[in-house]
Amino acid sequence: MKLAVSDAQIEAVAEQVQVHKFGGSSLADAYCYRRVARIVTEYAGASDLVVVSAAGDTTNRILAIIDAKHEGEQTGDFGMAEVLLKQLEKYQKGLITELLSGDHQQRLLALSDADFCRWWDWLAGNEVIDNRPELLSYGELWSARLLATLLLQQGMQADFIDARSFLIADDAPEPLIRTDISRIGLLNRIAPHAGTRFIVTGFICSDPDGRSLILGRNGSDYSATLVGSLIDAKQVTIWKDVAGVYSADPRKVERVVSLPILDWHEAEELARLGSPVLHPRTFQPVDRERMVIAVRSSLKVENQQTRIGQYEDVEPSGKVLTALTEVVLFRVDLRDAKLIDAFEELELTPLISWNEVEHHHAYYAYHQNHAEFMTRWLSERDSKHSAVQLPGYSMLALVGNRIQESEQYSVFKQEVGEQALRRLALVPDNSAVVAILEQKLDNRLLNRIHSQLFNHRRSLGVLVVGRGNIGSAWLALYRRLRERINEQMDVRIIGILNSTDMWLDYNGLELNDWQEQFERLARPYEMSQLIPELPNAPYDELVMLDLTDAMPVAQLYPSFFANGLHIISANKRAGASNESQYNEIRTIQQEYQREWYYNTTVGAGLPLNYALNDLRNSGDTIRSISGIFSGTMSWLFENFNSQVKFSDLVREAKARGLSEPDPREDLSCQDIIRKLLILAREIGLRLDWKDIDVDSLLPEHLADIPLDEFMQRLPELDDGMQDLYQDAQKNGNVPRLLASFAVQDDDTVRARVGIEYIPEGDMLANLIPGENIFVIYTDWYQEMPLVISGPGAGKEVTAGGVQSDLNQLLSRLNKRS
Ligand code: ADP
Ligand code: ASP
Ligand code: MG
Repeated sequence: MKLAVSDAQIEAVAEQVQVHKFGGSSLADAYCYRRVARIVTEYAGASDLVVVSAAGDTTNRILAIIDAKHEGEQTGDFGMAEVLLKQLEKYQKGLITELLSGDHQQRLLALSDADFCRWWDWLAGNEVIDNRPELLSYGELWSARLLATLLLQQGMQADFIDARSFLIADDAPEPLIRTDISRIGLLNRIAPHAGTRFIVTGFICSDPDGRSLILGRNGSDYSATLVGSLIDAKQVTIWKDVAGVYSADPRKVERVVSLPILDWHEAEELARLGSPVLHPRTFQPVDRERMVIAVRSSLKVENQQTRIGQYEDVEPSGKVLTALTEVVLFRVDLRDAKLIDAFEELELTPLISWNEVEHHHAYYAYHQNHAEFMTRWLSERDSKHSAVQLPGYSMLALVGNRIQESEQYSVFKQEVGEQALRRLALVPDNSAVVAILEQKLDNRLLNRIHSQLFNHRRSLGVLVVGRGNIGSAWLALYRRLRERINEQMDVRIIGILNSTDMWLDYNGLELNDWQEQFERLARPYEMSQLIPELPNAPYDELVMLDLTDAMPVAQLYPSFFANGLHIISANKRAGASNESQYNEIRTIQQEYQREWYYNTTVGAGLPLNYALNDLRNSGDTIRSISGIFSGTMSWLFENFNSQVKFSDLVREAKARGLSEPDPREDLSCQDIIRKLLILAREIGLRLDWKDIDVDSLLPEHLADIPLDEFMQRLPELDDGMQDLYQDAQKNGNVPRLLASFAVQDDDTVRARVGIEYIPEGDMLANLIPGENIFVIYTDWYQEMPLVISGPGAGKEVTAGGVQSDLNQLLSRLNKRS
């Protein structure tokens, strides 16, 4: 082919024509197309070239149809392929009818009919199209033709070009472009038409015989820079659904920052390390001194953009954190010199490679997407090669020029050092540091490291489990204190859950009228399925507030910890579980370095935990704690005397909500035992249910009958309780239900829950009904105990206690960072 245009025309093209590229996500529906048409009108010059990808997920749909047809060939059932093809046809024709009218619409529908006729013939086996790229090409063909026609309809001069008409390449895993002939073809086509905007298909090209080839998935970015370099353009603008290149993937990480400039090395390295933001070949054809690539948002054109170009003397700095969730290692015997050499020469460079000389091993790390290619490459070379494939790794990398000198380098090193690190290495030109990890990656980790690197305000996502009295009271309190809480960290409520339904939104819930919103927006869920999902919430830290009294929630604590959540409990069940379960919870908590606060489980809002911790941290030793740990028991016994029936009191307590719904929970002392266990364990003692000497108020024969019957038979308690009272009175005492534990001289623990006789004048005998009291003896408080008393229940004080735990968590997390 000969060049049919003058030097002056070529010069004019080089000076005036710029290239724009719109990806599939910018062309997903009719609304997107109109927006793109407006951008092309307002932001592109009159003779600019516009490269487009297939609309939305068209390429994926085509691949699915091809797969379904293959499957049909095996099974004889083409139903699936037909459904998928019908859907694709509907989608493509829908775009045409929505966007075009009159003749334009008629013309494109006729073209589209002809194309789909061919597709249906192919599916029916009447026409053979055995070249996949030919089928894939339709996606780009349709979008280019449609956009060009839309512009025409809007009165603009526009036309479309099928890139296969000029972009010629030789077939290879990555097609090798024949630059000269492609350049001539393109210039001949466009140079005579100054003033026309040409819409060019991305992703596709042709071999010299006219067979379609593709440039690899997401290849349209590459098409755009190819086209740009063929005409020697000064700028290629890649319009995306993101406003440029950010400090991390904005779909996964909160509070990313857009980068105003990136150097070629940095952008190239980022793409090479598999970031989806730009195709790895994008930079290959670029004249680095002349061209600039702008990456900007088609959704918000006014937003900042990233300019990629030649920037001298940039300060060393870590700029982009990028991650791959699936990485495979290829291990090669160092003595297999031929294979080692072949790896060195392979075009597809590994993410990183290294030698472990002592074991005679070389390692090459590749993105999972390349594993298939690598396996094929290895077996084609030598079917008995020594390479072993090791899957199950992940990658974190920090990209930026002169990375090793940057401030962020040591932060990155330290952060990944705390993970299951397999290897950390700089890439040869010092534009990235790459960490290969022996673990799964989740967004929580990415967020944490991102905020460490770029010094953002850290964030905490809060999951509220239980929306009863305490949940409601705490949410009200949180709303009141929100501003103050947020001074320390960016705290957001990401979910409110009851036992069956959850209202979850990782952006943070809007808490105005939350009850009403919960009714409307909450959906059924399974806790065990939810928990493994939670690490994807885009927060540095997550906490679960267990404001239930539910055993099933407590049983999942290990799973919450293992998935990275801290826990604040008002639920006593975990802290008071049997010793083996309790040890498991603690072990996992420590292994995953999570925090667990539960100050409200004993004495609700009373500052017991502060007093005990402060004494212990200051060098004191707790010897014993005794007292009345239950508000219900306190109320019952402070009101009990020879004039009243115990059964009447129990009824009244139940009616006034002062007891558990089933008062046997209180009478059997379960609640008190739990508190005693939690307190003892809190100060480091080993204690289990079986070690506690319990004197229950509940006769065994009443333990297992239905609640109604039990309430009727309550008076059966009365005689025994009156005897007890009279017995105590003989010596001027009154009965009280006490709990106590004491460390013995031999360091064993004696623990007891049951009735004790107390002198009438004693402070324990003179509480306000409902009041809790904790009498603490220590090395320093031997003669006179430290006494803490006050209300041991109530939704407001409990909510306040939960908030106190949250404050402690926040300051602990702030110290950690
Ligand atoms: P296109 O529409 O051009 O095909 P893609 O969806 O393939 O665009 O690529 C853009 C996506 O890349 C963004 O939506 C974003 O989620 C992701 N991405 C990953 N890392 C980054 C990053 N560092 N900066 C910007 N975007 C990123
Ligand atoms: N449509 C092609 C793909 O989905 C090319 C591109 O989008 O860049 O891979
Ligand atoms: Mg893409």
